[in-house]
Amino acid sequence: MKKALYAGIDIGGTNVKVGLCDAGGRLLHKLEGPTGGAEGLHEAVRRIDQYVRRAVDEAGGHWSDVAGIGAGIPGFVDIHSGVVALAENLGWEQVPIARILSEQFGKPVAIENDANLAALGEALHGAGRGVNHLVCYTVGTGVGGGIVEARRLVHGFGGMAGELGHLRIAAEAEAAPCNCGLRGCLETIASATGIVRLAREAIGRGEGTTLAGLDLARLEAKDVFVHAEAGDGAAVRIVRKAADALGLSMAMAAAVTNPQRFIIGGGVSRAGETLLTPVREAFARYAAEPLRRQVDIVQAQLGNDAGIIGAAGLGRSLSGMPS
Ligand SMILES: [Zn+2]
Repeated sequence: MKKALYAGIDIGGTNVKVGLCDAGGRLLHKLEGPTGGAEGLHEAVRRIDQYVRRAVDEAGGHWSDVAGIGAGIPGFVDIHSGVVALAENLGWEQVPIARILSEQFGKPVAIENDANLAALGEALHGAGRGVNHLVCYTVGTGVGGGIVEARRLVHGFGGMAGELGHLRIAAEAEAAPCNCGLRGCLETIASATGIVRLAREAIGRGEGTTLAGLDLARLEAKDVFVHAEAGDGAAVRIVRKAADALGLSMAMAAAVTNPQRFIIGGGVSRAGETLLTPVREAFARYAAEPLRRQVDIVQAQLGNDAGIIGAAGLGRSLSGMPS
């Protein structure tokens, strides 16, 4: 008997990533190509179809081996109807993408928010292996999150459980506007965008910082971490502020879901211990002792593959295989 393949698709505003996994969640093959979203939905679907079929060919499989397909979408997703309510980066509104892709592939397709799938990937096959109660952060351009209980995502009423980036963290006097329309969210402080904003503000205030010597138009969050590691006072304060905001949000999440482990993924998590150590200190400061006993905070392990591995896991759950 041939081995079943599960396809995971991560549909981003710029690129589509496709991964093929086996039943154990092992990534067998992956590829990536432009979404072509500016050319409309039809073109994006045509490309997604082409990428998945090419991935199966390149992996030496047959189309009939594909037993389930999952897709992650950067936006608000109704997982029951398979409709994307709004995905701004893709220009999609009320798009029944699960049905469209399912007709294109001739196979069942399930969809899910992309941060949720990254959380599921890490939970099942990455830093969360063997742990049943997890809260996962994706800290990149924004801050996404996902809650995984007993190997399943927690969705809540509208599928928005785990929107950790929009926990209100900042005090009123320091609350910056957030993409969600509110102010002072975690995302405005701890995302790469938030860290760069804080750095620009520090430079603008004339704080003596080595960051001021960089090309400000190209300033990135990783510059702030590098300068903090080199001992620049302003950079250290910004990293502490971002870490403090993450640790405070974890104390809030701990009071709601009582996870055993927090996983931090996304581009900003590449800072490693420079970020994680002050996050752990902040969590210890803000969380009640019983809520932090035996709880750890770790870096994600799957990197950019978390989304496609999680999406393939979603596809596997469609085929009736346990996830
Ligand atoms: Zn917000």
